[in-house]
Amino acid sequence: MAVIAGNWKMHHGPAEAVRFLERFDAATLSASHELIVFPPAVSLAVVAGSSLRDPRLQVGAQNIFWEDSGAFTGELSAPMAADAGATFALIGHSERRHVFGESSEDTRRKVEASVRAGLSPVLCVGETLDERRSGSLERVILSQLDAALPALREADRFLLAYEPVWAIGTGETATPDDASTAHGTLRERLAEVIGPVGASRVPILYGGSVKPGNAAELLSAADVDGVLVGGASLEPSSFLNIGAAVN
Ligand code: PEP
Repeated sequence: MAVIAGNWKMHHGPAEAVRFLERFDAATLSASHELIVFPPAVSLAVVAGSSLRDPRLQVGAQNIFWEDSGAFTGELSAPMAADAGATFALIGHSERRHVFGESSEDTRRKVEASVRAGLSPVLCVGETLDERRSGSLERVILSQLDAALPALREADRFLLAYEPVWAIGTGETATPDDASTAHGTLRERLAEVIGPVGASRVPILYGGSVKPGNAAELLSAADVDGVLVGGASLEPSSFLNIGAAVN
């Protein structure tokens, strides 16, 4: 089974989201694939509640705030995302960390909020190019995981996404071997904390310029259980072709 997840980022408002759903038909994809899409907040309820939505397409929030309600203008809480039909929450995406200054402490609080609301957290971790070049990859991704792990382990189900920052939206991808090594590092830490059986059940997705043309080799790499796709998830045909690459 592979998890094929699409992060629409700040694309596809309500009208565009409906047009996507009209053209998204997963009938050609293996029934064992799990399909998730992360629309922008304004399109969450539209996608989740639409009669046009392929029932196999699950829905998640791209970001949530850690408080459940209150005077936090512009924020979306986990209970609100759940009310809108989300069942997943993306936490700690590199654009949240590096464009909006989100810390690992913030991600921990957001994971806690997701768990309280019954959302499955998808924690994103990844190193910058400088961190990779200076040999800090392992330290960085483990510290990002460690900060959130006490909260993650309280979830009925959680996922991880390894997304090297230098590969997101750049056309550069990690090699399948590099992805396997990083995923293996994360899996080992999971095994230390939640045991090998629990660790083997956590899907670890690779993200960073995944496209129909490179999905098969990345998805066949050891310890890669799925992909988190940005740009190539915006068109139904390319999202579906990524899944079809490993049918
Ligand atoms: C992402 O947004 O998580 C992502 C991996 O983007 P892209 O596929 O465009 O690199």
